[in-house]
Amino acid sequence: MSYVIIGNSVAAVGAIEAIRQIDKEVPITVISDEPYSVYSRPLISEYLAGQVTEDMMGYRNPDFYEKNRVITKLGKKVIAIDPPKKSLKLSDGEEVAYGKLLIATGGMPFIPPMKGLDKGKIFTFIKMDDAKKIDALVPELRHVVVIGAGLIGLKAAESLHHRGVKVTVVELANRVMATVLDIEAGRIVQDALEKAGINIITENTVDEMLGDGEANAVKLKDGQTIDCDAVIVAIGVIPNAAFAKESGIAVNRGIVTDNHMRTNLPGIYAAGDVTEGPDYLNGGNRVMPIWPNAYIQGKIAGFNMAGVGREFAGGLAVNSIELFGVPVVTAGLSNIDSDDLEVLTRIKDGNYRKVVLRGSTIVGTVFVGAIDRAGLITGLIRDQIDVSSMRDRLLEDDFGYIDFPVELRKKRLGVVR
Ligand SMILES: Cc1cc2nc3c(=O)[nH]c(=O)nc-3n(C[C@H](O)[C@H](O)[C@H](O)COP(=O)(O)OP(=O)(O)OC[C@H]3O[C@@H](n4cnc5c(N)ncnc54)[C@H](O)[C@@H]3O)c2cc1C
Repeated sequence: MSYVIIGNSVAAVGAIEAIRQIDKEVPITVISDEPYSVYSRPLISEYLAGQVTEDMMGYRNPDFYEKNRVITKLGKKVIAIDPPKKSLKLSDGEEVAYGKLLIATGGMPFIPPMKGLDKGKIFTFIKMDDAKKIDALVPELRHVVVIGAGLIGLKAAESLHHRGVKVTVVELANRVMATVLDIEAGRIVQDALEKAGINIITENTVDEMLGDGEANAVKLKDGQTIDCDAVIVAIGVIPNAAFAKESGIAVNRGIVTDNHMRTNLPGIYAAGDVTEGPDYLNGGNRVMPIWPNAYIQGKIAGFNMAGVGREFAGGLAVNSIELFGVPVVTAGLSNIDSDDLEVLTRIKDGNYRKVVLRGSTIVGTVFVGAIDRAGLITGLIRDQIDVSSMRDRLLEDDFGYIDFPVELRKKRLGVVR
């Protein structure tokens, strides 16, 4: 028997740590097409901004693999899974046998068809090597176009701005971070970006990359042309699941798992951004590409691979980001219109707060600016607490444990006053 994990990021770490809690002996092999020890992927933007160096980005100590007796095959891509043979094929021709397999291959950039994509100086921004390639070019960059105003596009824009590069962000929606923020919240964030000097164009997109060999301009849907020295495509991230699908693993948008992180094939598990795993708030399955979710899913998968039945309670989409000094926290159904949802909002002193209720429980929230109560509200979402008695207080600055019913306060704090 052996455990094999495809991917060497946070979901893989969760799985290794769980397996080794149970099984100290059976070999674990980790295969990744990235050549690096596990690093904190969200920090690639701080790396590009010049705020951290590569040696500060490790997610575990350098002796992590040795301590956990993990064999690494780094810089190698898995190109096929043969489930009947319980074997993997790598890009260099090597075959690797597995007893239990975890697919933790994360996400890949979504790149829609655009003319001129084959030109040079067009980048994506999800890997260490993406950040390194852009970083190496910074001295010659004066103006970069970022396509997409989601979390990754805006982080890339902020990083380049820190390095003195002029940035234009082009976004198809009518606001920034449109998947998680409504118009009011998006406006506050956009104002901060524009005030800092980022040029933001909404309700438009890039039709074509222009240039002779290398991109030196983009042509937008409305016909205008913007000169630039490089382009970053940050339209979205999709599960990296195509090769799994070819081997008969059930893939919808991502690899479909049950709450033990099992796929439809025996002995094969999946965790992290590659999955369409159980959804805590809505039931069913959903792609939820966030770091904490990937770690927990990896851990649940690891326990189950090692023979200990643990169940994933379901993922909750929580995003926490700071852009140009404006902190933003979103959780759950932060931006969904539905007849069964009631939305409470408040803007005060440039700070935005939103609570989304379904009946007597909170199912979504947005905080922009003052975020000190975001953890409290997110906790109420996680535990699906009945908030009827505190409904009118949820948006108040001083909302806190004092508003909780006595029994709940006792449970949370262990004391009652
Ligand atoms: C710039 C940026 C900022 C982010 N900020 C946040 C944040 O603030 N908060 C948050 O919660 N999340 C954030 N995320 C998302 C977070 O990084 C991901 O949710 C998390 O990394 C997912 O972990 P994972 O283990 O599922 O896969 P990944 O981290 O995507 O790693 C998968 C690994 O598998 C490798 N791989 C893929 N296919 C193969 C193959 N066929 N063979 C071998 N290896 C393969 C990949 O190269 C990669 O190394 C951010 C992401 C980016 C890019």
